[in-house]
Parts: sequence; structure tokens; C-alpha cells
Amino acid sequence: MVAAAITDLRQTLAYLTPADINRIEEAYQFSDNAHEGQTRKSGGPYITHPLAVAGIIAGWQLDAQAVMAALLHDVMEDTAVTKEEISARFGKPVADLVDSLSKLDRIEFQSRQEAQAENFRKMLLAMARDVRVMLIKLADRLHNMRTLDAVSPEQRRRVARETMEIYAPIANRLGLDSLYRELQELSFAHLYSLRYRTIAKALKAARGNRRVGVKKILDSVQERLTAAAIDATVSGREKHIYSIYKKMVEKHLSFSQVLDIYGFRVVVKDVPACYYALGVLHGLYKPVPGKFKDYIAIPKVNGYQSLHTTLIGPFGMPIEMQIRTQEMNHIAETGVASHWLYKSSDAELNEVQKRTHRWLQSLLDVQHHSGDAAEFLEHIKIDLFPDEVYVFTPKGKILALPRGATVVDFAYAVHTDIGNRCMAARINLELVPLRNELKSGDRVEIITAPHAHPNPAWLTYVKTAKARAQIRHFMKVTQTGEATKLGERLLGQALRTLGMTLTDVQKERWEKLVRDTSAHSRGEILADIGLGKRLAAIVARKLLLLSDPDPSIGEKKIAGSIVIHGSEGMAVQFARCCHPIPGDPIIGFIKKGQGLVVHTHDCPSSSRARGDTDKWVDVEWDPDTDRLFDVNLHVVVLDQRGVLAKVASAIADAGCNIANVSVDEDRNLYATNHFTLQVANRQHLAKVLRALRRIPEVVRISRGKE
Ligand code: MN
Repeated sequence: MVAAAITDLRQTLAYLTPADINRIEEAYQFSDNAHEGQTRKSGGPYITHPLAVAGIIAGWQLDAQAVMAALLHDVMEDTAVTKEEISARFGKPVADLVDSLSKLDRIEFQSRQEAQAENFRKMLLAMARDVRVMLIKLADRLHNMRTLDAVSPEQRRRVARETMEIYAPIANRLGLDSLYRELQELSFAHLYSLRYRTIAKALKAARGNRRVGVKKILDSVQERLTAAAIDATVSGREKHIYSIYKKMVEKHLSFSQVLDIYGFRVVVKDVPACYYALGVLHGLYKPVPGKFKDYIAIPKVNGYQSLHTTLIGPFGMPIEMQIRTQEMNHIAETGVASHWLYKSSDAELNEVQKRTHRWLQSLLDVQHHSGDAAEFLEHIKIDLFPDEVYVFTPKGKILALPRGATVVDFAYAVHTDIGNRCMAARINLELVPLRNELKSGDRVEIITAPHAHPNPAWLTYVKTAKARAQIRHFMKVTQTGEATKLGERLLGQALRTLGMTLTDVQKERWEKLVRDTSAHSRGEILADIGLGKRLAAIVARKLLLLSDPDPSIGEKKIAGSIVIHGSEGMAVQFARCCHPIPGDPIIGFIKKGQGLVVHTHDCPSSSRARGDTDKWVDVEWDPDTDRLFDVNLHVVVLDQRGVLAKVASAIADAGCNIANVSVDEDRNLYATNHFTLQVANRQHLAKVLRALRRIPEVVRISRGKE
């Protein structure tokens, strides 16, 4: 069985050079070794599968790299072979192809919705990038479908449904007509086996009656064309059971009412001969009005070209007729593959891509004559040169986002509230930061927190208009409101220093100040203070009509401090350099345009700027803060198996969330784990630290500046 398959493959490879064939034989040996001892569900040796897939690829006359990748397509999934190993043995292009195929294998189709099926197809095409990956995937699927009898009934149905909804349409879109029909036929046979068998039986019975008619038609058509001096090959074939079934369903017909179970094909040498042959055939049998279609002048979206007509044959039997050139016939059989033909040397992939691009361009030029050129362009762009990524939500729904979209874009695409509260994400179960770019096939889960809110820095990396607009909107609304409240507290504090309170200030004083400063309202002045655009001390003096700053004021201790609850939102920020938590001694800095930034007392960046006394304010913690605060910990451990898990579970046992973790691995003994934890206050942190110190492998813990 294996020997016969090898002989077959060798024969099919005759279009390649001996050097290429040698490399393919090496790939075969390698794959054979890797799959050694593995069997298929049918019981045969596993290597028969990659051999058959390579045979299909060679049948489409793809290049040597594609044939080698077909032979190796399952080794990474099923055996211990790595990408590096394949790259070293067979070159990077082959390794890339195999790697992409393994990634496609890991994607699972879940949804039954048609719209989701469409997105799934796009996702696969986007992930494939290189058309050859998709072609090998399709060949893989074809062979699996051909040998589907061996697997369990449930799996058979699942694979058949996936093939019908996903892979057959992709084959159609890539213009692989006969592959498309075979995939449909095989899927139908497994999905609706009873209906398939019934029609097959009826077809067999009808065959006897109609065969004479078919022979007669073939002869008369050939005779007429020869008489008209047209060089043509005429063939007739039974239609696929699936297309008969579809006709029965769509037109509400019984089997005996479906008369055109035979299709005829006339292949001639050039385009004028197509139209000439059409005229001759319309002279032989009467055409059915409205059935003529000119796919030569207006090709199908996938590049398919042919003339289609239906004639009324002997005994009133309808005859479907396709007329096309040899080249059109070849393209209909191999579609996009026909433009990806074998090249004699290991040419740059770019050159091959350019050729494919040119081919698509030429199709476009033809397509301009028909109405749906824009739609066609859309398809080609998305499918082969994608500028979108397709990602899964945790529930298996697929979202389409522009290339370069980040976690934040995804969060806003799911829901505005998710966007406004997002703080990190898990992609394929791994924690990633918000700015992480998404790749097709990613499964994205957003981590939100009640106190989280949008950050202006997000605007520098979001890609979607929705995310941008929502972030801006949030800033505007909340920043003004929160800044006003903070401004009021800061101004109150400044007034107290001067022996007054806010309620002491008369209305007229406010009105005068608004006029003098060309602000629009009292609220605007307060918001300006909160945002650090105006200094509270100066506004306070103006309100009290103290035109000359009292030189003693700078020396005076400011009365009272601003109490920080942690729930102020955007107007109060916690410095990312020192991550203060409740219990830490803190100090506030008014940053222009951003409001109050809270640092720890010993933060180096706060002591550096401390000369600027106008901008520093005393702040203190509200004893009852009720949110969680981020804190960075660096934990140095002995680098042993399972240590990270021990550390993580100790943290969790101390009632603490891990918001982020990354690991620096030293060359030798130690590894440093960087955690971002969420704690309520210093006591909470102390509890975590105690738990960590109890782990024998933990060598050193430090609270991190970033
Ligand atoms: Mn396979």
C-alpha cells in the first residue's frame, strides 16, 4: 500500500527537477521516521496520509516546497519534531509552511451561525497568509474526507459539517472547482447518508434508461462540431448527487422530475471558438430561453470562465452544456493553484506572490465590466492580502478587527463598559498587557476591575474609531466632573491656610474673579485647579482680594491635608514609579493638565522635584479606602520546577489577585518573577510577604519601582 503510493507520487512529480525530487524523497524519509509506529484510524500506517496529501499537491503541480510541507504537515502536531529541526533540515520556507499548518489545526470551529462560518473562513485565510498553506490544508481535508469511513459517527458528522460550511466554500472562493464539488459531495454523503443513498440508488436505476440517450447526444455534438471544422473535445458526465439534491430542494422537484442528470463539456482551443461552438450547438438543439450565461466576458468572482447553456435534447431531455478553452478548463480544475505553479529554482517567495498578485489584478480588470467590482475587490483583499485580524471571544464568537488592533480595541468592540473597565487580558490563557496587538486566531479574555478607567495613553495605540471615541468621551465627561471636585478641595485647603473657608467667600467675589480671568464659570475655575492649570493658593488670594502676595505665606505650613479615598477617578492618579498603597506615607504633586499625582514619600522622583513648593500638597489616606491598589513585587527564587506555581498559590492563599506576571530567567541558578499584585493596604501586603518568605525556594523579595 505504501510502496504503491510512493510509486504514484514519483510519477506525479515528473514536472520537477531531479534535485527537487531528491529533496522531496528526503522529506518523505524524515516524515516516515517521525510517524514510525503511528497508525491511522483505518489501521494502516500513518505515513499513507501525508503521502496522499503530497500526491494531491503534486497533482496541482505546486512547487517542491509545498510538496515537502505536505509530507511533513502532521509531524509537529503528532510527534516530537520542532520547527527548528525542520528549518535546519529543509529550510525556513518549508518550516514556515508546516508551522502555519499546525497552527490552523489548533483552531476549532464552534458556531453554527452562517455569519460566524463566514468569519471563520476569513480567519483561516488570514492566518494562512501564504496561499500554499491553504492549498495544503484543503488537500489534507480532501484526503481525510475520502477516508472518513474509519472514524466514529459523531466525529464523521462534525468533520463533514465543518467541511461543508468552511472548507468547501474556501475551495470555491479560490476557484478550485472540482475540489469544491468533491468536498461537497463527500460531506453530503456523511451528513445525510440516507438521502445520499436514496438518490444514488435512483440514479443507478435511471442510468440504464438514459445511457443510450447520452451516447447519442455525445455523438451528434461531436459530429456537428467536426462538420463546422471546430477542433473540440466533448465529454459527458453524471452530475454530482449533491447538485441533484440541491436542485430537488430548491425547485421542489422529485427525483424523476430532475431530468438533467448529465452535464456535457466542450473544450476548444481559443475564445472565438467558444462562441462559434455555441452557435453551432444552438443550431443543433433548441436552447432553453434565459438559461445562457456568459462567464467568459464576465468571469465569476473566483476567476472561473466558461459559457453555460441549456439545450432541449432528444425526448425533451434538458442538456446542460459548458463550453470553454483548455486554459479555462485548467483554471477551473486548479484555481488559484494554477498561478502558483512549480518554478525551476528556489525563487524568492516575493516573486511568486507578485505573480499571484498580478493574476488577481488581471481578474480585477476583467471584473470592472460587471457591476460588483467593489465587492469582488473586497473579497480578494480580505482573503489573500488581509488587513483584518479575526479573534475569538471567550464564548467562541469571532470578531473582526483592523490589523494592529490591541486588547483595548477588542474590549471596546465587545462592550463600552468592558472597554472602560479593562486592565489586562488573557490571550490563549497567557496574561498580556493592554497594548498587546492581536493576531488572527487569538482567544481573548478581558480582565476588568471596578475601579479601572480609561487612560489617555491608550489613545496612542488604539486602532478602531469606536475605542478612540469612547476613550475621549470618557475623559471629557469624568475628568471635568472629578477635577471640579478635587479643585474645590484644593481651594478649600488654600483658603484655610489664609484663615477662611469656601463658604465665607461672597458671591460677588466669585463673579469678579470669573470676569477677571475670562473663565466661563466658577466650575471652570475649580476644574482648572483640579487639573493643575491654576494654582489654588493664587486663586484663594484673588478671591480674598489680597492683591499683594503676603511674603510670609510661602513659609507658613499649609493647614490640613487633602484626604485620598482612592475612588477619585481620573483627577487623582497614583504614580507608576512608586505605586503607593494605603499605609504608605504619601505626598501629592499637582501636574499641569492631569491633576493630582500621588507618590510615596521616599519615591526618588518626588524628592527630585520637591523644590517646586507651589505644586506639592500634603495628602493623607482615608483610613477606610475600599478599593485595591496595584503594587509591584520582584521575587527572586531558586529556579526549580514548579516554583512559580508555589509562589502564585501562596499569593492567592493570602487573598490577593495577581494582575500581571513576567519571569526573567537567569542563565544559572535563580529566576526573578515580577508580579503586579492588587492589595488593599500595607497590612494586606505584609500578609502576602509573610506567606512568600515561608517558601524555602524564595531567596529575596523587593517591592518594586518599575
Ligand atoms: Mn493531516
